[in-house]
Amino acid sequence: MKTRAEALRELRRTLTEAGFETAALDARLLLLEALGISATDLITSPDTPLTAEQSDTLAAFTNRRLAHEPVARIVGEREFWGLPFRLSPETLVPRPDTETLIETALALLPDRQAPLRIVDFGTGSGCILVALLHELPNAIGLGVDLSFGAVVTARANAVGNRVGNRCHFALSRWADAVSGPFDLIVSNPPYIASGVIPTLDEEVREHDPRLALDGGPDGLEPYRILLGEAERLLAAGGLLVVEIGYDQAEALSSLAALHGLEILKIASDLSGNPRCIAM
Ligand code: GLN
Repeated sequence: MKTRAEALRELRRTLTEAGFETAALDARLLLLEALGISATDLITSPDTPLTAEQSDTLAAFTNRRLAHEPVARIVGEREFWGLPFRLSPETLVPRPDTETLIETALALLPDRQAPLRIVDFGTGSGCILVALLHELPNAIGLGVDLSFGAVVTARANAVGNRVGNRCHFALSRWADAVSGPFDLIVSNPPYIASGVIPTLDEEVREHDPRLALDGGPDGLEPYRILLGEAERLLAAGGLLVVEIGYDQAEALSSLAALHGLEILKIASDLSGNPRCIAM
């Protein structure tokens, strides 16, 4: 049997030769999960041979990756804001760009110790709400999603990340079953125009849930609904922070004006694209 170190080298080579840009990182994450070991185990015992079962699991993971299934889907977990999040087929894989939303919301809140009421629409894995509750020790939250599977996953992630005592989750189409007031409304809604979905990267198109991507004919439908509900749901002086597509800042500014909401900040992601807008 191969040793752990040999298996890692071999997997890295296989993925590199298949053209995966993130071969080294992918190989490492897949190996650790297939073997059920920690990064420390790998460093301290690189010469331990794989068991037959570990070897079979690793082969299966390798084949899935070669078929372009995202690593996060294979290992069933993704890190966001330094916290681990379990995934299900009904949740979008958390994106690093979405941390822009967390940073923006935190920067605009006058007092992080305040007893804030937060709602997250389209909570998915719960990553936005859980990260915010992690940073705001006296806040409570409500995570809303149309998908039962997402709500179940978000709840598990809230408990797993030790904020389960400060949040609830509800099945609702946007704010249909929700009443305010809230001090902070956040959302990373589906914002891809329906017609653009076939052109998305295969790993997104084939593996992220369509419900979490498809924002209707022009990609703006969820924002019309959310901004339309803001007046009913926001407490006085409350904040609304949403993620947006790279080319949607102008459209969102017009929508905000239509609903009498003042733009407080448009924040860019690591690639320099406008990624989130606060009102
Ligand atoms: N940012 C995601 C992507 O690039 C889209 C997520 C969304 O629609 N909210 O695929």
